[in-house]
Formats: sequence, structure tokens, C-alpha cells
Amino acid sequence: MNEKNMQNVRNVDVLIVGGGPAGLAAALRLWEKGIRNILLVEREKRLGGILRQCIHDGFGLARFGESLSGPEYAGRFTEKLEEYGIPFLTDAAVYQITPEKIVTVVTKKGLLTFQTKAVILAMGCRERTQGALAIPGERPAGVFTAGTAQAYMNLYNRMPAREVVILGSGDIGLIMARRLTLEGAHVHAVFEIQPYPSGLARNLQQCLRDYGIPLYLSHTVTEIHGSSRLEGVTVSEVDEHLRPVPGTEQYIACDTLILSAGLIPENELSLEAGVILDPRTKGAVVDEHLQTSVPGIYAAGNVLHVHDLADYVSEEAELLADAVVSGLQENDAQEEKIPIRAGEGIHHTVPQKTGGREPFLLSFRVTRPMQDVEIVVRLADQVLLRKRRKRVVPAEMLRFPIQPFLNAVQKSGEAEVESPSEYRNRAAQESPSGYRNRAAQESPSRHRNRAAQESIPENRNRTEDGMCEENSDRPAQEIVVEIRKIMPDEGFGKEVE
Ligand SMILES: Cc1cc2nc3c(=O)[nH]c(=O)nc-3n(C[C@H](O)[C@H](O)[C@H](O)COP(=O)(O)OP(=O)(O)OC[C@H]3O[C@@H](n4cnc5c(N)ncnc54)[C@H](O)[C@@H]3O)c2cc1C
Repeated sequence: MNEKNMQNVRNVDVLIVGGGPAGLAAALRLWEKGIRNILLVEREKRLGGILRQCIHDGFGLARFGESLSGPEYAGRFTEKLEEYGIPFLTDAAVYQITPEKIVTVVTKKGLLTFQTKAVILAMGCRERTQGALAIPGERPAGVFTAGTAQAYMNLYNRMPAREVVILGSGDIGLIMARRLTLEGAHVHAVFEIQPYPSGLARNLQQCLRDYGIPLYLSHTVTEIHGSSRLEGVTVSEVDEHLRPVPGTEQYIACDTLILSAGLIPENELSLEAGVILDPRTKGAVVDEHLQTSVPGIYAAGNVLHVHDLADYVSEEAELLADAVVSGLQENDAQEEKIPIRAGEGIHHTVPQKTGGREPFLLSFRVTRPMQDVEIVVRLADQVLLRKRRKRVVPAEMLRFPIQPFLNAVQKSGEAEVESPSEYRNRAAQESPSGYRNRAAQESPSRHRNRAAQESIPENRNRTEDGMCEENSDRPAQEIVVEIRKIMPDEGFGKEVE
């Protein structure tokens, strides 16, 4: 950036990209913790994110203990934002974030540029489209993502469908099956390619079974018919490799196909800023503070990983804001991190690494439905968490607090600390209980000198598209999250919360 341009650069401590539940919760928490030089930027005309179009209830049960509609839930946050007087821009899109945390915003009055100390990514996600699904056939009118159909009905008061087929059993599709039925459309069925539903159990009951709408598992749409408007779809059964089974084709006449086949975090800005993405979550690789690979850039909400409940998005963003406050105050040094690996039965984890000295919330999803299972989080022989569950499903995000397992750092420098590599060496010689009881022997200065020379090898490489892939060489030390079936002779016992 040249000198003239630099004169127009404004300084803000924290810039938040996106005014959905994640961005709003982060802004409020920062303000409540005394960080005042902040700015929230939202590209839509109004704050609230995707919740503005979710007029069904069910939001806020975990957080407020009551069932709110999406706009009511968002309203709880936007009212406070206005009450506090937190600065925000709407109708303004963040166009670029540099690794130096210079943020360019497009507004109706022109470009604005901000030099920031921290950036919070809260851009949410978008829906998988017909192109992404690659269904053969024409591209007639009448093929919508579930969110687009929802926006037509709930934001613009338009009825987009009469005879409907829904592809994918994600929550938005299930909610739209009910919404369309209530508005007089005929929903033939929901077809799901996987052998299990991808939406929450409560939505399967309240949106399909309560309305007599059938759900066909292991089925997909194999052809689209019609040229200007959709006239029908061909549906086929799929085998265990998700390939259509010849001879099972079935034609269904319909004017609308609703796609509810997954969400993709919106990370184009993140990539440009140099943030490393996880190919499993499609969101940033973050540490226990939800800080990305670019120091000072943090991520929370659906841009980080797709959540099942907005309540958890808000909570995650608040934890992130706490970490940002600490980072601003203490000039958070990048310390060594221990990788967290999704082991047997686990699709992904967030965070993907931790320093091990502070408590954090571990979120993950399982790869398939399972019953009578034990979830174990371990670092070598040390068990950090062990939980039993009667039933787990991919639709439900699992979350557990993990306690610090390395000696706590006292920022005054008086504490005796150890690095992950020190821990590794010592843990190899000690039993887990011995480890917990033993005091560290090293002075802070000795530790700092040695820690600078040691590092935990990351188990990931960066690919050309900014994603990272796992090395075939596993690091010497890693946290593994895994799930295993409990055998009948072990007795399931009581489910442990
Ligand atoms: C259709 C639908 C139905 C749902 N139903 C439920 C439900 O019943 N119960 C429940 O608990 N959860 C539900 N959810 C999930 C819940 O809405 C999400 O978990 C939550 O909204 C995610 O919050 P977020 O802030 O991460 O993202 P979002 O709510 O998507 O907000 C992201 C915001 O960032 C803005 N943005 C993106 N890029 C930029 C940019 N470059 N510059 C400026 N602004 C930008 C977007 O405009 C948007 O406002 C539903 C989600 C969808 C999509």
C-alpha cells in the first residue's frame, strides 16, 4: 500500500466480519470486557445472519431455556448491540483481508481500509448447489437450495413451489418440508443418499413424521427433467458405495426440487489472508483460542465448522472473544502446539491443536451412527477424557470441555513451566498419575531457551489450494480423539454426561 493510501487507513483494535450469531456474540463479549475500538461489518442490510429467515422456533433452548424464532434469538443480541452503542456497518462487504490484518471494506460510499490488531472471521457458510452435486439434466427453473426457498417464503413472502421433492435430509431441508406443507404445497418425499439421516432427531420427528412426509434413505436424484420449468425428477436407490443401482429408477412428477445437501464454510477471504484450512471441516485450522494459522486472525461459528445449533455458535464466539482480549492485552506469543487428530470413528475435531495449558472446548462429529460407545481423548497413555454414550449420530455435534494437561503458565513468569516436548520426554518415563502429581523442575528462563529450540512437528502439510493434508509421518506426540463400541460383556452402565 502506498503512502497516500496509508493516510486513509483507520485503526481499529478488532474488526469482526459478519453480523450473524457468531459476529454478534463476539462483539458483545469484547465490549463487555472493555474492548471499545471495535467494528462489526455485515454485507446484508440488516444484522442477524441466516437467522433473519429462520422464522421457525427452536432457537435459544440451550442458552435462554426458551424456544425462540431465529429473528427473536438474533434480536436478543442486536438489541444489546444497539444499547451498548457498538459500532457496526451494514450493506458493507469485507472484500479483502491481508496477512498483516489490513481489511478492505466495500460500501456504497466507496472503499474503506482498516489496520487492525485482530480480525474475527464470522462469515457463516453457504449451501451446496446443484452444480456442486452434479446431477445430470437441464437446468430448469424450480431447482432451489433449501435456504433460497426459505428466503423466498420468509423474507419476500413468495410461494416458490407446489409439487415438491427434497434431496438431502439436512436440517434446513426438513424444516422446509414442514414449511412448504403448512403453506399448501405437496411434499412427495425427502431422499437421502446416505443410509442414515443427516438432520437432527427432533427435526425428523417434528418436520417429517408429524406431517406424514416419507424419508427414503440410500436414495438420490439421478436425473432432472424439464427445460424451462422443472417437470419431474428420476430417483434411484444407491448401493453401499453410493452408486445408483440400475433398475431402481423411479420418476416423480414435480415442479420443484429442493436441495438440502450440506453447507460449506465461506472461506475465500480467509484463504486470501493466508489462513490454512482443514479439508475435513472446510474451515480454518485453529488452536484452543480459535486462532488460525495467521496470528491475530480468529474464527468462530459456521465459517469455522458447521454447527447444529445457533446457541453453540454464540458460545463459541464468546470463548473466542475472551481469547482475543487476552491476546490483545498480553501480545499472545505463538507457543508450541500439540496436534489433535480425529481417530477411529471421528470425522473432524475443532480445535485441531492446543498448547495444553488452558481449558478448552473440544467439538467434533462422528462418521456414522453408533450405539453403546465410549469416546476417549488421549495423549499417549494419559486419558484426557472418557465418556460413554447410548447413541451418537453425525448430525449432532459433540462438545466436551478439556482440562489443562500441561503445567499451567503463569504470565508473571514466576511459574515453573514445561513445553510439550518436555512433557513428551517425561511422560514416556512416568505414569499418568505420576505426571499429574509431579512439580516441574525447570526455571522459566531455562524453559524459554530450550523451548525455543524444540518444536512439536505438525502432522499437516499445506496444499496448493490452501487446505492442509496430513503427513504420512505422524508426530511423536499427538492428542487422539476416538470412539469405540462397548462390548456386551463390558456392560454399558449409565450414560455419563
Ligand atoms: C436455513 C437454516 C436454518 C437453520 N435452522 C436452525 C434452527 O432451527 N436452530 C438452530 O439452532 N440453528 C439453525 N440453523 C443454524 C444456525 O442458523 C447457524 O448455526 C448460525 O446462524 C450460524 O451463525 P454464524 O454467525 O456463524 O453464520 P451466519 O448466521 O450465516 O452469519 C454470517 C454472516 O456473515 C455475513 N458475511 C459473510 N461474508 C461477509 C463479508 N465478506 N463481509 C461482510 N459480511 C459477510 C453474512 O451476510 C451473514 O450475515 C439454521 C441454519 C440455516 C442456514
